[in-house]
Amino acid sequence: MSPQPGVFDFHVHAGDAFRTHEISAYIRDTQLTGLCLLSLPTAGYPGADKLPPHMNEAVLESKKRLSASENIPVYAFGCLDNRDLLPASRAGGAVKSLPSPAEQIAILHEAGFDGLKLWEGKPLLAAALGLKPQHQRLVDACREAGRRDMPVIFHVADPPEFWTRAAGETAYGDGLPGFDELIEGAALLCEQAPETQIVFPHLLFLAGDLKRAASFLERLPNASLDLAPGNYAYEPLAADRETSIAFFTEYSKRILFGTDAFFFTVDAFPLPGDSLEGNCRRCSRLLSFLSGGKDVENPYPLASVGARRVRGLSLPGHFLADILAGNAHRILTKPPKEVGG
Ligand SMILES: [Zn+2]
Repeated sequence: MSPQPGVFDFHVHAGDAFRTHEISAYIRDTQLTGLCLLSLPTAGYPGADKLPPHMNEAVLESKKRLSASENIPVYAFGCLDNRDLLPASRAGGAVKSLPSPAEQIAILHEAGFDGLKLWEGKPLLAAALGLKPQHQRLVDACREAGRRDMPVIFHVADPPEFWTRAAGETAYGDGLPGFDELIEGAALLCEQAPETQIVFPHLLFLAGDLKRAASFLERLPNASLDLAPGNYAYEPLAADRETSIAFFTEYSKRILFGTDAFFFTVDAFPLPGDSLEGNCRRCSRLLSFLSGGKDVENPYPLASVGARRVRGLSLPGHFLADILAGNAHRILTKPPKEVGG
């Protein structure tokens, strides 16, 4: 039997340094061979007015502690401070001019971040900040990141059903960017920063339209997709299993394993964390779905009644090895940066 491929979790949310020991337990329980800790830019996000403008400090502190205690590479992705795009009433007071996006990237890099995490394509945040994915601010940030060999993880859009009545009262409507507009904006950004590796989480919310996902990847050689569920993805991927398997094997070098584990403060509003057990379940569920052929539970609240359990894709081992770890090592070409100070 061939050895189990390593598992590199490209998408773990940190943000509460007090939960670092739980991330240690997560690493051990899921037997990770590497991970990326992600910050989030919270300034402007509805309900987050009282939070710091991003989670950079907590993420860096967790990285520092984990790098000392764990024997695996721990990378960290920092965020921009976007308060200068908000009216003073929403920015926690008047904001003196902030460093330019490129300067902010330099500061992140010096502080010990290995990559840039953008969340500015999440519709509610994009609208609050008045940003499109191809906005010059984000192009400048991505170009500088590329110059420094820092990959970018950029959340763009949300599940397409969030724009429909299926989402109920919270359905996206007026004042928010449309789904297609966001996806095209992501493509334009990739073209404007061709030297930068840009990873779009949650399969860029195209799990229900893999043809479009494929043409996105064909058009944009610097783009990759991560799998962070994206719990929305289980149903569409399982609905046409053959097409999904063909997509995953064809683009196995462009897809990264990530769980979207949430190690924020557990009850914090508006971004509550998940328990250690919940995060471990996210990981084992996705692993079973990719590697096995049995049914796994589908945790997505909007899942159809007939899709509460879905059959795994049972991907062949060598494709799986790239998705689970090989591609992460290809994108992260250097060892993690040391945390300064
Ligand atoms: Zn995420």
